[in-house]
Amino acid sequence: MHTEIYLDANATSAVHPAAIAAAALAMRDCYGNPSSSHATGLKAKAMLDGVRALARRVLGAGQGKLTFTSGATEGIQTAVLSALCEIRARRARGETTGDLLLYGATEHKAVPESLAHWNALLGTGLELRALPVDADGRHRLDVLRELAPRAAFVCTMAANNESGTISDLAGIEALLRECAPTALWMVDSVQALGKLTLDLAATRIDYAPFSGHKLYAPKGIGMLYVREGAPYTALMMGGGQEAGQRSGTENMSGIAALGAVLAALDDGASFRTHAQLVRMRERLAAALRAALPGIVFNAPFEHSLPTTLNFSVPGLAGKELLDLFDAAGVRVSAGSACSAAKAAPSYVLTAMQLAPWRCAAAVRMSFGPMADDALIDAACERIARCGAALRASCLIPSATPAQDSDGVVQLGVDGACTWLVLDAASRTCAIINPLAALAVRIADQVRCQGYRVRAVIDTHGGAGDGRAALVAALGGQLAGGISHEALGWPVLDDEATLDNGQVASALMFGTRVLARVAHASGASYLFGERSAAGLAAGDVRFAFTGPDAVIQELAELVSRKTIVCPACEAGSLPCTTLVAERGGAAPPANPLAMQLEAHGLERFFNDHPDALLIDVREAYEHAAADADHWHGRAVQSVPLSRLADRLSVWLRAEERPLVFFCRSGARSVKAAQCLHRLGYRNAWHVAGGVALGAMLPQAA
Ligand code: PLP
Repeated sequence: MHTEIYLDANATSAVHPAAIAAAALAMRDCYGNPSSSHATGLKAKAMLDGVRALARRVLGAGQGKLTFTSGATEGIQTAVLSALCEIRARRARGETTGDLLLYGATEHKAVPESLAHWNALLGTGLELRALPVDADGRHRLDVLRELAPRAAFVCTMAANNESGTISDLAGIEALLRECAPTALWMVDSVQALGKLTLDLAATRIDYAPFSGHKLYAPKGIGMLYVREGAPYTALMMGGGQEAGQRSGTENMSGIAALGAVLAALDDGASFRTHAQLVRMRERLAAALRAALPGIVFNAPFEHSLPTTLNFSVPGLAGKELLDLFDAAGVRVSAGSACSAAKAAPSYVLTAMQLAPWRCAAAVRMSFGPMADDALIDAACERIARCGAALRASCLIPSATPAQDSDGVVQLGVDGACTWLVLDAASRTCAIINPLAALAVRIADQVRCQGYRVRAVIDTHGGAGDGRAALVAALGGQLAGGISHEALGWPVLDDEATLDNGQVASALMFGTRVLARVAHASGASYLFGERSAAGLAAGDVRFAFTGPDAVIQELAELVSRKTIVCPACEAGSLPCTTLVAERGGAAPPANPLAMQLEAHGLERFFNDHPDALLIDVREAYEHAAADADHWHGRAVQSVPLSRLADRLSVWLRAEERPLVFFCRSGARSVKAAQCLHRLGYRNAWHVAGGVALGAMLPQAA
């Protein structure tokens, strides 16, 4: 069974056992209100004071204020509010202030969002201006020199959460001292704590917010350092706690937990040294380079946190890598904000002006400064496993691909579909409706698997860009010396007689045939077993169609069981049949009615001993997952991209219960809905997928 390897420490961390113990103690034995004057309150107050004193020492806070907050976002609000109120007051007093709110282009969104919010709310009317960064992600000091005289408030993070880039705070400080002596300065220090040495009072920094959950403390606790004498406006007013700087009864269990982490940081032994962390990064980087040829690291190591690796791999989307690592039990994050369907390019990497593909495909791997060699060993082994899974699927070049690729494969981008028709026996294939975005991937896959391409064809006009791109990418892999008709159909002598007597131009693939049916809006292609008479409707396994309904044209040529493979997903489902289409756009069956809970699987299989358990994750995820069995049941791999292919078999066989699962339940519900829509009612899916399953897949 895979144990989880958590490498997403920049997002949040597991809570350290000592922090859990300290929080429990605070709740159980030290539950007093630190504002109470009785003994129970005094005990709580002593704990609070102790943690604050420790925090001051660790941060080098000197005579500055150190306030406990709910996290960095609150600290940022307070700093921004304080700075803007001061700027407003200075102006009211007739003092000149700059007119710019200057923030690093790669700041966490909490910073520009807070600046915009409070600037509007307070009516300060200052101009927000992003300070650009260079290709290494470091602030452009030349631009800062130019803008600093106009700056009223400057926000520059200590280290970036996505790229790991460490800012040149000494350089920024020197510049501000010289060119902007009265500007206020906030340094978001969230990612620096525990990884970089801090001596805040020795700097010119006015405000430094911190967050506990990035460093082994629970969520909901943070700190704000405010330099001695720096302006301060409370965000929360009330009972006057935290010396009136932040009202509200303190989060004592959070503070106790943070105290335990700070104690570990202070003891000099629990946290790894910088040199040790650098060695760990080197080992991870070496494993990644070996597993993922062509990998590029998006921030130079010499200027970045040793605990953060941000990388992109040519030809692989960030979401694909994330799914792959997740399947292998390695938690990383797609470096960019990611919606289920589409990853938006990272604004951090975009600000670094990296190539668009790097910004869109970035993955972040981050570990905490208490990581040990066992974690890194296990991570390196899993990374190698991920590389092997990608090679087996030909997603990275391989001399020994293991993919079974006979039949029909579906690829897609944003609901548009490309279909591959592969004949393993003759090692030849045809590609239907190629999307330009997939051209290089398809050409690489075809080359890796040793297929010769007989035809690159479209079902309709206006989609020719993809065809041209694929033809160019295929080069010698495409059968040559043949002229082509419109939509790319090769001019050959072969023909097949269809069920209505129509004689269609055809491409032979061993015992199978791909026949063209021309119609007004373009063409459809029928694929099936040929007989002496030609291609009978009952033998047509697949019909590839354009975006327009062609039900009438196909009615006499295909059977009820023919899988219709459209150019665009039918109602967000991978494929359809003529019968389903004739029924109108039937609303998808209620997902709840086909849902099984992971903990109920055993009972379901007892009641349905003939049921099949099917992993619809892609083949590389399945391989990385080591998921031959789940909940004691043998697992079959039928990636969603191969669902149409298998459906043509399932629809022709006796109906067995099919239970689909995937990573989160998003793909398996699609598979189950597709089957229900095509009249196969005995299809189920596991809610929450492997992620919420009671157990991770077990090795056979
Ligand atoms: N600043 C940085 C650099 C961060 O990484 C984060 C967390 O993602 C925040 C601010 C916000 O921290 P919190 O979740 O404690 O509000």
